[in-house]
Amino acid sequence: MERTLVICKPDAVERGLVGEIIGRFECKGLRILAAEVLHLDLEILGRHYAEHVDRPFYDDLVAFMSRSPAVLLVVGGPEGTVAMVRSLMGATDPGQAAPGTIRGDFGLEVTENLVHGSDGTGSAEREIAVFFPALASAG
Ligand code: UDP
Ligand code: MG
Repeated sequence: MERTLVICKPDAVERGLVGEIIGRFECKGLRILAAEVLHLDLEILGRHYAEHVDRPFYDDLVAFMSRSPAVLLVVGGPEGTVAMVRSLMGATDPGQAAPGTIRGDFGLEVTENLVHGSDGTGSAEREIAVFFPALASAG
């Protein structure tokens, strides 16, 4: 089974969109393998977003991501699941995201874009290990 890390970001929890977001993955046929509500802190966000620490948007991103609880999910399915989740999410900027995608249907602003999904199978396993160490793959 291919796995990916999904985060329903604080805006999604605040707006009551977690059920809608999980429902889209379930309607597609993907499985929820793990779920947790967690108020993220700067330490764990620094590990999760390690590739972005030097980007100009990083401080705004972590301020947003740490302002209230998020819902962490491990989503699994057949080969291609990582890419399928990204396509269900839509483009990073909700203003550009296609209608029918989560970001295209519910968002307006690039930082508060509702959902995170790993961008490859390698990053998925790295990110799953950050938030769900008990589920980390051996290799
Ligand atoms: N982000 C932002 N400004 C930007 C680009 C990204 O605030 O110009 C935020 C946005 O919340 C995005 C996250 O940083 O989801 C991580 O950026 P990435 O490029 O990895 O986008 P994603 O993989 O989430 O589509
Ligand atoms: Mg990314």
